[in-house]
Amino acid sequence: MTPFELCPVCGGDVITKEVEKLIPGGNNSAAVRVTAEICTHCGERIILERGDHVV
Ligand SMILES: [Zn+2]
Repeated sequence: MTPFELCPVCGGDVITKEVEKLIPGGNNSAAVRVTAEICTHCGERIILERGDHVV
């Protein structure tokens, strides 16, 4: 089930992909793995889920 079948920005096709998102935090930057919809047209990233913290 895909929350976004089309990009809300440009209406292009989106693909579901697991990406790492960097959260800058002073000396310690955290990376979380999140599932995101990536627009194949404009590159818009739509984060679907909260990531699990990787400390
Ligand atoms: Zn788009």
